[in-house]
Amino acid sequence: MPVIDLHSHSRYSDGAVSIAELLYTYSKAGVEMMSLTDHDCILGLAEARTKAAKYNMIFVNGVEISTRDHDNLHFVGYNFDPENLALKKLLETNTQLRLERVKKTVKLLQEIKIQITEEEVLKITKGVSSRAHIADCLRRRHLGYMRSDIFKKYLGKGCPAYVPPMAVTVKEAIEAIKEAGGKCFIAHPGLVRDCWDFEKWVSWGLDGIEIYYPSHREAMREELLRIAKKYNLLVSGGSDFHGNIAGRVLVPGREVPQEVYDKLYSTFF
Ligand SMILES: [Zn+2]
Ligand SMILES: [Zn+2]
Repeated sequence: MPVIDLHSHSRYSDGAVSIAELLYTYSKAGVEMMSLTDHDCILGLAEARTKAAKYNMIFVNGVEISTRDHDNLHFVGYNFDPENLALKKLLETNTQLRLERVKKTVKLLQEIKIQITEEEVLKITKGVSSRAHIADCLRRRHLGYMRSDIFKKYLGKGCPAYVPPMAVTVKEAIEAIKEAGGKCFIAHPGLVRDCWDFEKWVSWGLDGIEIYYPSHREAMREELLRIAKKYNLLVSGGSDFHGNIAGRVLVPGREVPQEVYDKLYSTFF
């Protein structure tokens, strides 16, 4: 079965690897078609595209857009025009809101006497800032081994430094991707089962579902395949690769059925 990976992150968002390292890793893993989908950031696309060509990998422009309804309700856009103004404006809005959320979170941490500053977080931020960068600062302070430890103790929902998501709406995210000529997929729907509203998302222009995802078990995949069939949606797969960050998947690439690969290829090219 073909190996694709339409979901990956670099240092431009919360990934641990440079574009060069990412592409090298993907080529070694035998990925045939890939996309870089940094959170709310498209700064790495040009370099990734050049490097992918060097390794003979098929490259698709990508971005993962956060929404305000849930911490994990993300939509990935593919094959859009990265110069499109509506999309650029939306990404700028989310970048600003991310920064605000980071500032609020840092303040809450300071209130519970955790030593951390905004400057420190921004110093390790390359493209967009995120709570993952805060977690990395705290890991350095030995307050946890993995990012997930920090989220469980300080940053996650119900924790002392939790700030609810600040981002655009789902409708705005889908529409901006479509406006830029792209295809919009719901990312890792298994993580946001309570938020499902396919009827509405499809009416706003949703094109597909990320079904082949590391934490999706067979029952979840089958349920999602039924939904894809019902609404005539595309199917994709990705690993959500973040590089060598303890607690996250380290192996890029997902095997997908040949017909899934063929459908994606004919949609994008
Ligand atoms: Zn995501
Ligand atoms: Zn992701």
